Amino acid sequence: MRARSAGFCFGVRRALELAEKALKVHGTVCSLGELIHNPGVVNVLRERGVAVIDDLGESRGRPVLIRSHGVAPEVFATAREQGLEIIDATCPFVKRVQEKAADLVRQGYRVVVIGSGEHPEVRGILGWTGYQALVVSDLTTIERLPPCQKLGVLSQTTQDRERFYAVVRELIGKAREVRIYDTICQASLARQQEAIAIASRVSLMVVIGGKNSANTCKLAELCRRHVSTVHIENAAELEPDLFRCIDAVGVTAGASTPDWIIEEVIGGMCMFDEDQETAQVSSQQVPEVPQEVVPQNEAVRKRLLSPQLRWRSRSPQHCRKPSPHRSRNWPEPRSPGRMVRSRHRRSLDKKR
Ligand code: SF4
Repeated sequence: MRARSAGFCFGVRRALELAEKALKVHGTVCSLGELIHNPGVVNVLRERGVAVIDDLGESRGRPVLIRSHGVAPEVFATAREQGLEIIDATCPFVKRVQEKAADLVRQGYRVVVIGSGEHPEVRGILGWTGYQALVVSDLTTIERLPPCQKLGVLSQTTQDRERFYAVVRELIGKAREVRIYDTICQASLARQQEAIAIASRVSLMVVIGGKNSANTCKLAELCRRHVSTVHIENAAELEPDLFRCIDAVGVTAGASTPDWIIEEVIGGMCMFDEDQETAQVSSQQVPEVPQEVVPQNEAVRKRLLSPQLRWRSRSPQHCRKPSPHRSRNWPEPRSPGRMVRSRHRRSLDKKR
């Protein structure tokens, strides 16, 4: 079963589109940190002229792309001082969290960000609070929070809701007034809910995406709570032994995983089915993503449900339709991503 929501989210697509536009105009640009957390895509971008830099000083006058994770306000200030052109690909959902964090600080709230302090998105949000916010990654961190009058709680956009609510429950009571904003983005939520739904119906989950991608790691973590799960970056990491004695496999991918990598992996799994009779990939479709996880914001909703982006969620043969990104010269999968019926299913069909 392949998750309908697997692959690029709105924010990542937008960042890649901005990078492509910038390349057309400038020929070469820099991205402050890897544009997305996927080594395969970063390599393709590098070949096309997107250099990865860790500091604005390394830009050598080239325009600088700010990735979807966003950055602290002083980065924009420094770029202005150095006369650099900034192409801001901060995801609008992340921008909303940054603005909310800054607003809470202005109103005198002690801000708590539920997430990982190491993640660039969280470091950026901290910058918008003047580095006054406390990052809470687990329940033990809450003990460091002294009682206060007003507490404002936000979340990293890729957190899972269960953990968010668990931390929020502990935070209530730490202040006289607690304002809670569930800022987990709908794209993350949809991927998480669908991954859990599939994980509870299969014997093995394959989660595809960068090992440095927070949302992919979160998907793998959630799936592991339900079923045996492997997290791989590409088809080269597939091991035939994984699929021995497995009757149904679920596949999902993080928000920064391109379709061509997903198709390569599915193609590789299908090879095991034909050659070694070990893997079975069902062409069965997963249930519709519940309506409550479809963004209510009309513009975002239209974008996510537009025919251009919906083809992945239709029947398996649609998986071979050219994707909007492939038409812009994204690499073709090395092997066709075919969804084949397993031998087990074929023998069942014959019996019928
Ligand atoms: S996961 Fe959500 S917040 Fe992050 S880039 Fe994608 S849409 Fe934006």
